[in-house]
Amino acid sequence: MSIPEQLEKIKNELPQHVKLIAVSKTHPVSVIMEAYNVGHKTFGENRVQELISKYDEMPKDIEWHLIGHLQTNKVKYIAPFVSLIHSVDSLKLLSVIDKEAQKCNRVIDCLLQVYIASEETKFGLSADELHELLQNPEFKQLQNVRVCGLMGMATFTDNMEQVRMEFRFLKKLFNEVKQTYFQNQPWFKELSMGMSSDYRIAIEEGSTMVRIGSNIFGHRSYT
Ligand SMILES: *Cc1c(COP(=O)(O)O)cnc(C)c1O
Repeated sequence: MSIPEQLEKIKNELPQHVKLIAVSKTHPVSVIMEAYNVGHKTFGENRVQELISKYDEMPKDIEWHLIGHLQTNKVKYIAPFVSLIHSVDSLKLLSVIDKEAQKCNRVIDCLLQVYIASEETKFGLSADELHELLQNPEFKQLQNVRVCGLMGMATFTDNMEQVRMEFRFLKKLFNEVKQTYFQNQPWFKELSMGMSSDYRIAIEEGSTMVRIGSNIFGHRSYT
């Protein structure tokens, strides 16, 4: 199937409240344009350098999401244009985003990434660290970031019951956090979970944003 066909097929499957982030990492501009040309305008990248060069080359009505780990010294490069940062995993990073957003006269939307997998390699906050961050007085001072929800990545496994339990855990944590810290903040509503292999389960467990790469663009080759 072509990229427009894959895109159409996935979009038809998604409930109305679920947003599709087309993960375009490693794919060249010409390939991403195939999705853009049929009206898809929300793309996710996991590397700052790649995100910047695609932003420069591509039409300016694209919403760019950063979904991969972000180093504090790189925030300044994306602050002028990024739509949503899914991968905020420390108060320090959030403070730097706040500072850079202020310089650009913007408020940058962010998600806090929670560690839900049983692997050593994934980034993110534990549930305890998440609560600590949200209770920190320094967090309440930040004026130029808006925390819109949580993000998580399930374990890379064929055990779909395990994946489901991890997503369920994150949804429960999301509800607690919303209730405790964001009750009067209607923008705290996003739960970014689900990739090509597990987005259907993620949606059943309450996802509002799925990040899908290979099911749209085919396999990635890292060269
Ligand atoms: C690459 C990536 C995805 C998309 O993965 P696919 O399996 O290709 O759908 C989603 N989220 C993050 C954080 C990624 O790095």
